[in-house]
Amino acid sequence: MRAFHTPASTDHDPDRYFRRGAIVDHPEQADRYAILLRAVSAKHAVSETADHGIAPIEAVHDAGYIAFLREAWSRRAELPGVDEEILSGHFSRPHMHTRPTGMLGLIGYHTADTSTPIRAGTWNAVYHSAQVAVSAADAALADGHAYGLCRPPGHHAYADSAGGFCFLNNSGIAARRLQAQKGDGARVAILDIDVHHGNGTQGIFYEAPDVLTISIHADPADYFPYYAGYAEERGAGAGAGFNLNLPLAHGQGDDAFHAAIGTALERIAGDAPDALVVALGLDASEHDPIGALKVTTPGFARAATMIAGAGLPTALIQEGGYLCDALPDNLAAFLEAFDRAR
Ligand SMILES: [Zn+2]
Repeated sequence: MRAFHTPASTDHDPDRYFRRGAIVDHPEQADRYAILLRAVSAKHAVSETADHGIAPIEAVHDAGYIAFLREAWSRRAELPGVDEEILSGHFSRPHMHTRPTGMLGLIGYHTADTSTPIRAGTWNAVYHSAQVAVSAADAALADGHAYGLCRPPGHHAYADSAGGFCFLNNSGIAARRLQAQKGDGARVAILDIDVHHGNGTQGIFYEAPDVLTISIHADPADYFPYYAGYAEERGAGAGAGFNLNLPLAHGQGDDAFHAAIGTALERIAGDAPDALVVALGLDASEHDPIGALKVTTPGFARAATMIAGAGLPTALIQEGGYLCDALPDNLAAFLEAFDRAR
């Protein structure tokens, strides 16, 4: 299959992460890009993304948030002591929602946690990562399916906020691009198989009846993102009934993962969308350093075969999956099985 990437991915390389009260190595490292690119380059036609402009990003994200991401680094002089990255320890709560003007307050307004520091190259990395998603969406319509190596990932980013290592919602951007290219009235489904609930994606499309969002993930009752991802969250307003969460008990493996994918595919078939986005996190792996499920490498291949069987134009968008020996094997197995099933 055709695969897209951007060397700009490495322009954002956070090194520290505040976890359970301690400063640890940041899990979402730029090395992920080289490792995933090597895995996909072995058997697939890889090319650098084109620049499709800001419009596909504006189709998903608020103008004020985009401006904040773009300008934050150039405003770092407002924060004495900032050297390599901008972070806040203050965050707005649902009952405190006035947007401040000062930089420190703005950071807390537009971020959910301390995992998304803004560095000199952050905007360049997330902008071009979003372009990768657009290229994958276009190629999915031309060829039937395609892969986008998006890094940083995107599915925890809301329309107006970063969080969970994510800045721009690449899967959401791919979904809106597929709709725009298909024309008026087109419907898209997003199937998120990352081990973490796709809370940003759910939030963006929660009231949208034209984008069915489904997430399979480890039970958030004691796992990130904690505050969303529950089975009773079904969408709202015109989008009521168009969000499906399939949380799994921690420690479950291939059988439970595949059963949930089966349930998701039945729901997708019932909705008869024109195209599919797979939010392809690989951190459900049994070897993932921050995972909570036990999916094997053959288990990822089987998942790909099942999803390919839906027969829809499909954009595979990279989400999570962290540094471990199994990471490139899981990506290679998934893509190869998807190709073989088509
Ligand atoms: Zn994840």
